[in-house]
Amino acid sequence: MHTDFKLARGLLEAIEFAAHKHRFQRRKDPGEPAYINHLIRVARLLAEVGRVSSLATLQAAILHDTLEDTDTTFEELEESFGRRVARIVREVTDDKMLRKAERKRLQIEHAPHLSKQAKQIKIGDKISNIMDVTYSPPKGWSKERRREYLTWSRRVVAGCRGANKELEAHYDRVLRQCRRFLQKQRA
Ligand code: NDP
Ligand code: ZN
Repeated sequence: MHTDFKLARGLLEAIEFAAHKHRFQRRKDPGEPAYINHLIRVARLLAEVGRVSSLATLQAAILHDTLEDTDTTFEELEESFGRRVARIVREVTDDKMLRKAERKRLQIEHAPHLSKQAKQIKIGDKISNIMDVTYSPPKGWSKERRREYLTWSRRVVAGCRGANKELEAHYDRVLRQCRRFLQKQRA
């Protein structure tokens, strides 16, 4: 168990670190929201829906895109947040040397082999992204591409099942709502 102080300090440190590392990046939808909003959303989903109280897991949720999308190194994460957090973040990081299509295929293939902590973050990330793809999609995405994203995310989440029942059920509910919304938009 963590004391309240240790938990609060640890979370704030991760938020400050991630906000700084992603400070020049924006999400892809037309409003171009700050990147940190997505990271906070994922951590909140884990805490509020998934009832995750592990500081290391919540920190890794906030830091989950630092290795993939910024100049952050594994060693830097390890130094600042410890080996456990650095390893979870590494688990949820795509190999940027590979082509997009291959990276997407590997996410599906790797999902069942992730740790429980990494699976929880993957599910939270996919919940956040399918909501964005549905309600505030990246500029220029066709309806078809948005639907393809939902279908692909479902295959990744399928490999993460067993890690957190509440998060999985929430993903299923959100996916249904997203599909209904896109369906109606087509009519
Ligand atoms: P991207 O992987 O390029 O973009 C989606 C990712 O961007 C999300 O997983 C999320 O990742 C991040 N992101 C940032 N802002 C948003 C936002 N507002 N809403 C949703 N996601 C956001 O796209 P795809 O998933 O489509 O993958 C590319 C693949 O699509 C390639 O294989 C390519 O060949 C194919 N493609 C398909 C087309 C089609 O029409 N079907 C057209 C062109 C390409 P994170 O949370 O990790 O930051
Ligand atoms: Zn993400």
